[in-house]
Amino acid sequence: MRVYNSLIDLVGDTPLVRLNKVAAGLAPTVVAKVEYFNPGGSVKDRIALRMVEDAEKKGLIKPGGTIVEPTSGNTGVGLAIVAAEKGYRCVFVCPDKVGSDKLSVLRAYGAEVVVCPTTVAPDHPESYYSVSDRLASTIPGAWKPDQYANQNNPESHYATTGPEIWEQTEGRVTHFIAGIGTGGTITGTGRYLKEVSNGAVRIIGADPEGSVYSGGTGRPYLVEGVGEDIWPETFDPDICDEVIAVSDKESFLMTRRLAKDETLLVGGSCGLAVAAALRVAERAGPDDVIVVLLPDGGRGYLGKIFNDEWMADYGFLNTETEEATAGDVL
Ligand code: PMP
Repeated sequence: MRVYNSLIDLVGDTPLVRLNKVAAGLAPTVVAKVEYFNPGGSVKDRIALRMVEDAEKKGLIKPGGTIVEPTSGNTGVGLAIVAAEKGYRCVFVCPDKVGSDKLSVLRAYGAEVVVCPTTVAPDHPESYYSVSDRLASTIPGAWKPDQYANQNNPESHYATTGPEIWEQTEGRVTHFIAGIGTGGTITGTGRYLKEVSNGAVRIIGADPEGSVYSGGTGRPYLVEGVGEDIWPETFDPDICDEVIAVSDKESFLMTRRLAKDETLLVGGSCGLAVAAALRVAERAGPDDVIVVLLPDGGRGYLGKIFNDEWMADYGFLNTETEEATAGDVL
C-alpha cells in the first residue's frame, strides 16, 4: 500500500512552479519553491524536525518533556506536529501582531499559546524573547529549540532545501531569493548553493523596509515572519550578495497578485520575496534561472492582506489599479 507512516515523512521535497504572469515579459526563467506543500503548511517544518531530532540525540528533551519557543506561528506549527508525533507538550510565545487565525491553528494542534506585545524592546521583561526564556527555565523538563541560535535551523536548509533546488533545476539555478527572518533559510540554502556552484549562484535577501538587514533601525512593519530588530546567530550575512528592501504596500499588493494571477494563495513574506525577485529578474539575462522561496500559504492572512478594508485602512490599496475595484459588483 502507498501509505506514509506519519506526516513527518512528508516534510520537504516541495515543488518548483514557474511564475508565468507576474514575471511576463522578463528575460529570465523565474520559478517559486512553494513551501506550503509541507505538512504544517510552511518552510518551518524542515527546521522543526531537525531541531527536535537533534535535541533527542543529545538528550536535551526526554519523554514527557515540554517544548517552549517564541514563534510567529509557522515554527510553532512545525514543532507542534513533530511534538504530537513524539508525545511532547508545547508552549508557544507569540508577538501580538500575529494574526488570530495563526494562533488558533497552534491551539488546534494542542499547543498552549502566550501572546506578548510587539512594541517593547527585546530585553523588556514582557518581550516575547524574555517571556519564553522565563518559561523555559521554570517549566520542569522544558527545552527551548531557539530557532534564532540553533544551528540545526540553517543546517536543515543546507541538508534539504539547497540540494532540492540544485537537483530540481539540474544545476541551472543562477539566483536564489528568500526573505530573512531568523536567516536560517537563506544561510543554509545559500551556503549549499554557493558551495555546489563554486560561488556562481547569487544569493539575495528580501527584507521589509525598516528592518536591520537592509540598514533600518527595526521600526515596525506589517509583513510577518521576516525582518528583525536584532541580528540572530542563525543568519550569516556573508552568504548574501545583496539585500533588497521592500515596502509593506508592495509586498501585500504582490501577495494579492500571486493569488489572482498565479493561483498561489500565499503569505505576505512571499509577496515580499517575489517583489525582490522581480527586481533581480529585470536586470538578469535570458539564460538565468531565478528561484524564489515562498515560505507559507495565505489562509492565515485572510483577515488582513486579503481583506480590502484592512488594506484600505493602511492606505495599501492603490486607487489607480484593479485592486480598488476588487470588491465592486461589475
Ligand atoms: N516568512 C515567514 C512567513 C516565516 O514564518 C519565516 C520564518 N520566521 C520567514 C519568512 C523567514 O525564514 P527564516 O527564519 O528562515 O529566515
